Amino acid sequence: MAQATLTVKLGAIAANWRALDRMSAPRVETAAVVKANAYGTGIRRTAARLAEEGARKFFIATADEGAELRQALGDGPEIYVFGGHMRGDATAITDLDLIPLLNSPQQFRRQKEAAPTARFGVQLDTGMNRLGLEPADWAVLRDEVTASNPALVMSHLACADEPDHAMNAQQLATFEDMTQGLQAPRSLSATGGILLGYEYHFDLTRPGIGLYAGAPFDDGTPAIDLEVPVVQVRDLDVGETVGYGNTWTAQRPTRIATLSIGYADGLPRASGAGGLLAFADGQACPVVGRVSMDLVTVDVTALTEAPESMSIICDDQPVDDIAEAAGTIGYEIFTSLGRRYQRRYPAA
Ligand SMILES: *Cc1c(COP(=O)(O)O)cnc(C)c1O
Repeated sequence: MAQATLTVKLGAIAANWRALDRMSAPRVETAAVVKANAYGTGIRRTAARLAEEGARKFFIATADEGAELRQALGDGPEIYVFGGHMRGDATAITDLDLIPLLNSPQQFRRQKEAAPTARFGVQLDTGMNRLGLEPADWAVLRDEVTASNPALVMSHLACADEPDHAMNAQQLATFEDMTQGLQAPRSLSATGGILLGYEYHFDLTRPGIGLYAGAPFDDGTPAIDLEVPVVQVRDLDVGETVGYGNTWTAQRPTRIATLSIGYADGLPRASGAGGLLAFADGQACPVVGRVSMDLVTVDVTALTEAPESMSIICDDQPVDDIAEAAGTIGYEIFTSLGRRYQRRYPAA
């Protein structure tokens, strides 16, 4: 079968969650961000494993994602929706017991009208200017919000992956200023903020990428492997070309393996020209020619035997290396992981 196999190591994900949990003080709770299908790994299995490990609070981007997550987790764990209370979300919020993070005065009104007794959190903008109540709106709403006992008051750092960036301290000061004297639990840090140290942790941290050992959590345990079947192997003479646009020409007799993966599976087209490799038994072989929609071509001349399959994501080439080859970030590689992959969850 020409289907690639994505192996998701739930034990590694659980170990990474524990490692991130250990990086903050014992009284700080560590949640899990599982938006975008748990960064491509499969929200049901990944979230269930994290709940088993002890995670009690989960974050997703939209109410739709919350519905799937509630099914996977059952009653009990808290599910927060970053996008807040959108029109049409009232049913999910009450029936599925989701907790919207209210980002604007409009969302606060909508919540009060549609689900007046339902729990909610508040997201504050401390300078990123993406989501959250502006300081001026917060000043107006703060007393009313506080009177309704928000489950969480949070904000998000724009530059946490750059520890020396002045924006980190600036947002920290703004967050402290905006939440001074508040009774509600507070949260500021995702993976990058956890690495910045205790003062950024408040009551709850929200790691996402670090659960899968993506940068900036460089000390994590890699959590995914991608093994891709070889569809065909052929031998080329000097001067023959490979793939769309004839971008690669054999300079010596060359053996080419064609693998069943392409940009439709989330392998970026740009990675082909960026030094992408494929591995057979740990031996590196260069991807040559253009990455096409469903296929890539690999120079396997150095191998004594043509392989039946090759590794694209493995310890020798983690997700961040593929991102670098493509000029992007690991987040984009994770969240693009193909729908055509067969996802395997071996017992850890
Ligand atoms: C995605 C997201 C996170 C998780 O961020 P990572 O960098 O993946 O750890 C946390 N908080 C908010 C608001 C987010 O959007």
